[in-house]
Amino acid sequence: MVDNYKYLGTVLDSKLTLDSVLEHIRRKANFNFFKLYPFLRNATADGRRDMWRCLVAPLFNAAWILLKAEPGKGRKEKVHTLWRMTFKKFMFLSQHIPTSLVNRLIAIDMNDLTEDNNLLACEKWISRKNLETFRKCDVIDKKQANPIRAIPNILCKIINWMSKSCPKCKGKILNPWHLKYVHNVGIETPGRLLDMLRDLGSSAHMKIDKKRRKISRSEIISMVKPILEKKLETLREIYDSLCDR
Ligand SMILES: [Zn+2]
Repeated sequence: MVDNYKYLGTVLDSKLTLDSVLEHIRRKANFNFFKLYPFLRNATADGRRDMWRCLVAPLFNAAWILLKAEPGKGRKEKVHTLWRMTFKKFMFLSQHIPTSLVNRLIAIDMNDLTEDNNLLACEKWISRKNLETFRKCDVIDKKQANPIRAIPNILCKIINWMSKSCPKCKGKILNPWHLKYVHNVGIETPGRLLDMLRDLGSSAHMKIDKKRRKISRSEIISMVKPILEKKLETLREIYDSLCDR
């Protein structure tokens, strides 16, 4: 009898609990992060998200299956927390940014993932039992649009700025609501910023489509980068002015 056993890249323990699986994901995600650090540091926000989706998100497949079998609230929260933590790490985002914003950047429904992975496992099992070849297209793929396609990593710096402590008020976070109600300074919320980037991307697409050509990632980057740089500069000025007051 062994305490745990590695099977198809997943660590299973004698009681099939989540703890061994989560520990394995944490270690593997950290290992990938340190290996990729030089690349991730300079990658666009989009590139960082892609790396996380390719190398970290699939590590959770066994966890979604175990969650379906034991859907306790505490277990679910443990998996969801680690899912968001690894994403924030790959994106170089502060661990203090709001959950709703992280979920919007990830743009994958975790409940869908639990259902899809279980459906996939069942389909594979049925194919195997009937000695048939498994075809992945039998399972529905509900992909959401990438909310940060071709967006530079300045976006991460802007979001991190909004999770800093206020230099004027001890223990308060410099989010748009604190700035508005305490310091009478109006700035865009991260949600509004993402809406603006999405609208900018789609209007540029429409203009270019008339010429029957698709807008490239580099064109989006050169269009969006100066706008985000200006926004970050304004936020830095606000911070300095709060320090001076
Ligand atoms: Zn303040």
